[in-house]
Amino acid sequence: STPVEEREFQAETRQLLDLMVHSVYSNKDSFLRELVSNASDALDKLRLQAFQDKDLEVDTSDLHITIERDTEARTLTIRDNGIGMSRDDVVGLIGTLARSGTAELRKKLADAQDSAASVDLIGQFGIGFYSTFMVADTVTLLTRKAGESEGTRWRSTGEGTYTIETVPDAPQGTSVILELKPTDTDDHLYDYTSESKIRELVKRYSDFIAWPIRMDVERTEKVEPEGSDDTDDTAEPTERTVVTTETLNSMKALWARSKDEVTDEEYTEFYRHVSHGWDEPLETISLKAEGTFEYQALLFIPSQAPFDLFMRERAGGIHLYVKRVFIMDDCEELMPEYLRFVKGVVDAADLSLNVSREILQQDRQIRAIRRRLTKKVLSTISDIKSSRPDDYDTLWAEFGRALKEGLLSDQDNRDALLKISSFASTNDPEKLTGLEDYVSRMKSGQSEIYYITGETRQAMENSPHMEAFRAKGIEVLLLGDPVDEMWVGSIPEFDGKPLRSIAKGEVDLDDDAGKSEDEKKEAEAEKAERDKAFADLTAWLTTTLDENVKETRLSTRLTDSPACLVGDTFSFSPQMEKLYRASGQ
Ligand code: ADP
Ligand code: MG
Repeated sequence: STPVEEREFQAETRQLLDLMVHSVYSNKDSFLRELVSNASDALDKLRLQAFQDKDLEVDTSDLHITIERDTEARTLTIRDNGIGMSRDDVVGLIGTLARSGTAELRKKLADAQDSAASVDLIGQFGIGFYSTFMVADTVTLLTRKAGESEGTRWRSTGEGTYTIETVPDAPQGTSVILELKPTDTDDHLYDYTSESKIRELVKRYSDFIAWPIRMDVERTEKVEPEGSDDTDDTAEPTERTVVTTETLNSMKALWARSKDEVTDEEYTEFYRHVSHGWDEPLETISLKAEGTFEYQALLFIPSQAPFDLFMRERAGGIHLYVKRVFIMDDCEELMPEYLRFVKGVVDAADLSLNVSREILQQDRQIRAIRRRLTKKVLSTISDIKSSRPDDYDTLWAEFGRALKEGLLSDQDNRDALLKISSFASTNDPEKLTGLEDYVSRMKSGQSEIYYITGETRQAMENSPHMEAFRAKGIEVLLLGDPVDEMWVGSIPEFDGKPLRSIAKGEVDLDDDAGKSEDEKKEAEAEKAERDKAFADLTAWLTTTLDENVKETRLSTRLTDSPACLVGDTFSFSPQMEKLYRASGQ
């Protein structure tokens, strides 16, 4: 064994641990769900690796999770014989924060001085392994990776440092040993060495886990005195204590059970297991396909966006199973990128267990599943929009920016996406509007949907381009997300109404509709006369501004400002130019 080495946690990890150690988070019970969830993942990974790598020498005949209670020592041990971790894994995964985005976390931690904010943080960052410090003074992790000969022991009180050492004799897999804090029900700390408590928690949080969760339980048995028979009732039966090992969970795959048989709470806990999240799902979608391609899907729309929704290395969404056997997490082929926030499971009946990412990308069945799931998610969001406005608002606030990426990338579902989208508008400073509502408010004679893009609402509202629209009371959509720049130019129309940037080309607000032919002619003549009268000025401006403008013309769109810059109908907007410049193109 190597000497015990003491190391410091990263600054962010330390702060996070501090939150956990002093947590006022009332649901401290969740630590067990997190440990069982990690153990289950480790068993999934080992089974898959043993299947793919025939040279790996491991025994996978009895993969399981064991919970051991020691009432006297007040310890609780969660053990699995799964994939295990190498020393480097332990340092990387447990010693530092497992996720990317530490900068983000640092910022949020700085803001989260009060407890309510910290509870929120827990929800957003999905504090997994560290949740043990809510209930334990000291946590020891003993692990050996499958295929390696030496193990690693890690130990910490959650206060700034941890120790790590290499040990020769660790069993393969991982044990987490908790030295429990004193029971204090006022502080939501229960007796986690009690059989009934553990039983209750496993049932509540982890019943669907596909691996057996075993625990030794004591039973008192009546023992009939020897030689007794029915006619002799003088001898009293004695009692003895026997210890038996019980499997605490039913191991039933949730997606295989019919919807009315599963409680909301069970769905929530399953959602938390697959998403590594702590929030509630906003919606649960269960789906079953029979026939040529048989599959079942259980999908969730979260109620809270993960902090890494817009980061490259974010954790993934859909787990792929083949006939109840876990194949991979984050199966990108099953959901388009813009729906990456959807979590859940797809269990396909006819795929090979050997299926690889390369095969998946080519697979017709996978493509068909993806098409159907995409449509289902969009129609579900549409239902939420029409029947649960508050939930829709939450959903849009959390995931709208991601959904709008689909307007650019998913031509097939463009109309459905436009219908479920909402935008800021000059109609109401407080509320977003859908396009259908915009159209219903269009002025008579208005044939186009007007929008402006910009960085802030204020900048857009103060734009000189807005003046004539404000003066005439015509509603303009205010598109302020960078992603708006990307899609809006590629979408010609909604409901037969062209989408028109008010900052580009000539926007003709002196609408000809309702005018007689004579009146139109008259207006044109007036315009020609005006242009002629100012021809010297516009020509002089064009030459003076030379390289900076293409042409100068008179406009009826301004009411207060003397002049404004407009782009060509088909040119990039200034924001788009900025985006391209920023990306070095
Ligand atoms: P998450 O599960 O969301 O990744 P955790 O904090 O729960 O975050 O765990 C961090 C990482 O540590 C896991 O992703 C996994 O790689 C590793 N890990 C945790 N527990 C185990 C275990 N029992 N067996 C193997 N690896 C584990
Ligand atoms: Mg975890």
